[in-house]
Amino acid sequence: MLLVSEPILGQEEAAAVADVITSGWISMGRRVREFERVFADLHAATDAVAVSSCTAGLHLALLALGVRPGDEVLVPSLTFAATANAVRYVGATPVFVDIVSSSTPHLCLADAASKCGPRTKAVLVMHYGGYLVDPAWRAFADERGLLLIEDAAHATGAAGAGAIGDATVFSFYGNKNMTTGEGGMVLARDPAVLEAVRTLRSHGMTVSTIDRQQRPELPYDVAALGYNYRMDEVRAAIGLVQIAHLPAWNARRRQLTDVYRRELDRAGLIGTLPFDSSWPSAYHILPLVLPRGLDRAGIAEALRANGVQTSGHYPPVHRFSLYASLCPDVRLPRTEDFARRELTLPLHPKLDDTDVRTVVAGLAAALRDAATISPYQGGAPSDEHRACVAR
Ligand SMILES: *Cc1c(COP(=O)(O)O)cnc(C)c1O
Repeated sequence: MLLVSEPILGQEEAAAVADVITSGWISMGRRVREFERVFADLHAATDAVAVSSCTAGLHLALLALGVRPGDEVLVPSLTFAATANAVRYVGATPVFVDIVSSSTPHLCLADAASKCGPRTKAVLVMHYGGYLVDPAWRAFADERGLLLIEDAAHATGAAGAGAIGDATVFSFYGNKNMTTGEGGMVLARDPAVLEAVRTLRSHGMTVSTIDRQQRPELPYDVAALGYNYRMDEVRAAIGLVQIAHLPAWNARRRQLTDVYRRELDRAGLIGTLPFDSSWPSAYHILPLVLPRGLDRAGIAEALRANGVQTSGHYPPVHRFSLYASLCPDVRLPRTEDFARRELTLPLHPKLDDTDVRTVVAGLAAALRDAATISPYQGGAPSDEHRACVAR
């Protein structure tokens, strides 16, 4: 089965973990600190704070930036639920904003502008698929006195990720571009904000666990209501191995995306691929937007029968029952349309060029058959569908 994503883990990670086990110090320590420094260097930042997950990092970034109950935060709905959930953790209200278009499934500046009000405090943008959002978001935030936060879960290793946000949060979950199993990293423009995140990840204590290991007599204060969102040495050791490979892995993701582009073009399906080849990206996923009115589940099933796994990014967050009951009147037509048509194909560095050809050939066949199995869902066939069937 060609999987949508697959972690790359081997002897190097095993040896690094074994080193931690024999070192006698397994909780947060010097490897976590080193991982933070290497990560900061990779993203041209002065420092970084490692946390237990991107979700925890988003929570702490919002807290450290002073987002509070009563505040509103503009968020995408075309994202993982954690983006909006983190806003709820601090008691603020997520305000869902539509995407630009099916070829640019990023938060829409114009829709965001129309949803700004006196309570709007921040914008949380997400680099969908690893493709970086428009840097104009910085000016958008500055003109309105808003905070800007980047959910960079998809964008680890992309030059420019973290360049515009007051805070930026990355994920090392198992399906991301690099992994520590669970884990995340926070960058912040203001060193004081980053220090607040560092304190809040460890119970709000003013002295770190490593300092206390070396000098257990050190007195400490608890100055803020913190959490236990620390990373441990096992994860940092894995992270240090992974991050050394990340640039090569991301370059391979780019090459594979180029092969997809070529093969989709050859199959007459280039129109299904969002973004263009010059868009800065970490190439996290390979999303396609199918013509309207096709039976996507049937296409996914046909691909699966041919050994190709697919997935969807994402079911819109505002339609989950948790949010639908909270904000029943939200309508995001472009997000909803995109989510109905999007199909994510396999993309990870273990694939070879032939795998990509297999996937695209399978997709082309599934699209041809889809027309006869389940021609039209809801109403007349679209022009896109007619063009697709004609091919
Ligand atoms: C994976 C992901 C998260 C959550 O990351 P965790 O590290 O699993 O908490 C948040 N936002 C987006 C867009 C993601 O893809």
